[in-house]
Order: sequence, then structure tokens, then C-alpha cells
Amino acid sequence: MTKIAFIGLGNMGGPMAANLVKAGHAVTGFDLSEASRNAAAKSGVSVAGAISQAVRETECVITMLPAGSHVIYVWDELLGFVDPGTLIIDSSTIDVESARKVHGFAEKAGCPSLDAPVSGGTAGAAAGALTFMVGGSDGAFSRGKHLLEAMGKKIVHCGDAGAGQAAKICNNMILGVSMAAVCEAFVLAERLGLSHQALFDVASTSSGQCWSLTSYCPVPGPVPASPANNDYKPGFMASLMLKDLMLSQQAAAASGATTPMGAQAAQLYSLFEKLGHGTEDFSGLIRMLRGTEAVKSG
Ligand code: NAD
Repeated sequence: MTKIAFIGLGNMGGPMAANLVKAGHAVTGFDLSEASRNAAAKSGVSVAGAISQAVRETECVITMLPAGSHVIYVWDELLGFVDPGTLIIDSSTIDVESARKVHGFAEKAGCPSLDAPVSGGTAGAAAGALTFMVGGSDGAFSRGKHLLEAMGKKIVHCGDAGAGQAAKICNNMILGVSMAAVCEAFVLAERLGLSHQALFDVASTSSGQCWSLTSYCPVPGPVPASPANNDYKPGFMASLMLKDLMLSQQAAAASGATTPMGAQAAQLYSLFEKLGHGTEDFSGLIRMLRGTEAVKSG
């Protein structure tokens, strides 16, 4: 049993903290939102009134927050209250620069730390089936691995500080580009009089095969569980896809990498969001692509 503080009990953090409780750990949580605190209390998390209370005398602190600025703010605060040696893990999806900055804060405070963003979405969080991409020292990784295993089914140590965020951003740039490509292929097929099922049957067993097609097909029918069959309810919100694509472009600019397809996907999702579709599933992009005028004028 490990004494854990969990900060950020939202759509992802709430079920992740619940899985740590189920695995037998003592979890104290804090969130700014009363609704999130109440939901966490129902799943056995002991809710604190402030970060300072939540993190005292714990062996590990996990944060699951919206963006880099929140993580910097919260780590700066919590490191003033933890004992040296406490393991600090951030599982939010944030920019590599902020991730490396907070690793630096932790090092100064004498605390080992990990960046450990996830893929698998809210369904994966609820099922304890997330994939964790982890950056940090070997020592920090071996201390944190069993805790991540209580929330996920695949844990990959990607390298030193920031490597987990780098892996997450690269993976999600592939996802954004591949979904846009699959949507375009279905739109072209429609114009050519080819049925959705025929394109799916060919491409899913040919060189066009990819996750966006076979697990998340953007048209209803071929993959019954994909959000296209549920009026594009998320799933994975388009605004989160845009967030990750913007992080990839920020990282590309900072590192001098050339990513024209990632840049194009970011532009498409930015237009999709501006047209009011940010809360839809990201595969709903196909509906914008069918309305070619919106894309041409974007
Ligand atoms: P969310 O908005 O549901 O949860 C974030 C929580 O952080 C909120 O409850 C908010 O009140 C809390 N918070 C913000 N500032 C705080 C502070 N100073 N102190 C305490 N609590 C604070 O977001 P989410 O969907 O749970 O996503 C969390 C992170 O996981 C994001 O970085 C997101 O990009 C990433 N992510 C999300 C998904 C997904 O499908 N939702 C999938 C993979 C990764």
C-alpha cells in the first residue's frame, strides 16, 4: 500500500485515482471543482481541502491537469509541502519545455519525478487500460512503475525527462494526420461512387491500413463501436486533438523539425473548432471535408 496524493480529479484523473484505490493504495485527492471532488469521494478517494493538505506525508504525488501552465503552478506549490524523496508524477499532456521545467523544480526539492502522459482516453482510464509513455531517470521509473500498472496495461519508459511528452506528441501528430487522410479518402470514395464498406474492406487489409481506419472509422457502418455510429459524440474531442497538434507544432518549431503534414492537420482542426465543432469527436472532421467550400476558404 502506497500513500498517494492525486491532484486533478477530472474526466481522466477521477477514474485513474479510483483505480489506485481499487488496487489497495491510500489516495488523498484535490481538485478545484466541487463536482470532481464529490465524484472522487464516492470512489473511495479521501478528499482534501487544499493541495497543501493533500500532499503532506505522502510517498507519491500524481497530477492530471489541463495544460503546462497548470502543471507549473501546481508543482511549484506542492513541492513546498512534500518531504524530500517523494516521487512526483505528471500524467497531463503538456509541452516538452514545461515538462522539463517541472522536472527541474522537483530535482531542486530533492524529489525524483516522471512525466507520464497517457493514451486510451476516458474509457481506458475507467478500465485501467491506459498506455503510459514515461520520461525520467531509471530510479524514478522503477519506483513509479507499479503505481502506473494499477491504472494502465502498457507502460513504456521512453527515456529521460520530457521523453514521455515527446512520445505522446509524436504519436498524436500521426493520429491527427492519419485521421485527416482517412476522412479525405472516404470523401473521395463517395464522389467516385465507391461504397464505404468497399473502401474499408480494401484499405483495412491493404497498405492504407491504420488505427484511424480500423478502430475509429470516420463513417458509420464498418466499425460499429466508432463514434461515427453515435453522431460523432466523443470519444476523443476535436479540441483535444487540436491541443496535441498545436503542441507538436510548438515542439517542431523549437527543435527545427520539418512537419508540413502535422501543420496542415493543425490548420484543419483549427478551422473545425472555429466552425463550432470542438466538442465533437475528432473523426467528425469528415463532415467539414464534405462541405468543401468551408475548407477552401479556410
Ligand atoms: P479535465 O478538464 O476533465 O480535468 C482537469 C481537472 O484539473 C479539472 O477537474 C480541473 O478542475 C482540475 N484543475 C485545474 N487546475 C487545478 C488546480 N490548480 N488544482 C487542482 N485541480 C485543478 O481534463 P481531462 O480530460 O481529465 O484531461 C486531463 C489531461 O489529460 C489533459 O492534459 C488532457 O490533454 C490529457 N488527456 C485527456 C484525454 C481525454 O480523452 N480526456 C486523453 C488523453 C490525455
